[in-house]
Amino acid sequence: MAIPRFAVLAHPVAHSLSPRIHASFGRQMSIALDYSAIDATAEEFGNALGAFAASGGVGANITLPHKQRAAAACDTLSERARRAGAANTLTRGATGWHGDNTDGVGLVRDLTGRHALDLRARRTLLIGAGGAARGVAPALLDAGIGDLFIVNRTPERADALADALEQPGRVHPRYLDDLKALGEFDLIVNATSAAREGAMPALPMSLAGARTAAVDLSYGEVAIPFLAWARAAGAHDAIDGLGMLVEQAAESFALWHGARPDTDPVFAELREHRAALVTA
Ligand code: NDP
Repeated sequence: MAIPRFAVLAHPVAHSLSPRIHASFGRQMSIALDYSAIDATAEEFGNALGAFAASGGVGANITLPHKQRAAAACDTLSERARRAGAANTLTRGATGWHGDNTDGVGLVRDLTGRHALDLRARRTLLIGAGGAARGVAPALLDAGIGDLFIVNRTPERADALADALEQPGRVHPRYLDDLKALGEFDLIVNATSAAREGAMPALPMSLAGARTAAVDLSYGEVAIPFLAWARAAGAHDAIDGLGMLVEQAAESFALWHGARPDTDPVFAELREHRAALVTA
């Protein structure tokens, strides 16, 4: 029987840990799979996805910067991908792709499981309104957080995300310039890719305090500036996105293979592998 083909599509893709994670899950579960990395720019994305399907690809993870593009390329979407307007897990059907989004459940599982955080009623600040923010916002609301404030470099995208969440009394788009007036948060999620460009939004120290959990969805060197800011501001927890990465991958794996792997050994292996880079 042919080994099923999977891939991650991103740009850039060279540093993606997804091939390594899925290979580890496959070994753990004794499931044979072929998982590769495909570099595709925005212009190349449609053709790259088509070529992958034509070559027998049955499942794809999608990451920066293609999640919204991927949702648009799907024939059908799960309810959580539809709400997010972004897809990170594509499964090939008879006529096209079905899109799902496991980012939100991955983040919530990492925070409530690995980090034992109680998210209920937490006053939350979400920084960013791209594909990842769109994936995690509905899951955080479903997990019972309190009010959700959203800020983004391009304010129209924060407005659009707040509208899409359809909870006007609970979800509040704000300008980055207004952050000083917003007081302290119980949960702060950095869902921007700003640090990849050597930039980080200017965040006042007043946002974080002794009961704040600060989470950067990225990991490795890219997460360092935000986590350093959170510690300097006195946050109780400073958490990077490595655990979320492993949890969202396990959810994708379960969708494709019908069984959820144990994430702890894979997380431990990656943490050790990246110990020199990851400071959380
Ligand atoms: P997108 O390209 O879809 O969105 C990028 C976001 O970052 C937008 O909100 C964008 O604002 C903002 N941004 C980019 N550059 C800057 C800047 N210089 N200053 C301020 N804001 C900026 O990316 P994703 O949403 O897919 O990914 C965001 C981050 O989350 C990445 O670091 C990614 O690695 C991480 N991630 C981690 C996952 C995990 O499993 N741990 C899963 C998914 C993502 P604007 O709208 O103005 O362009």
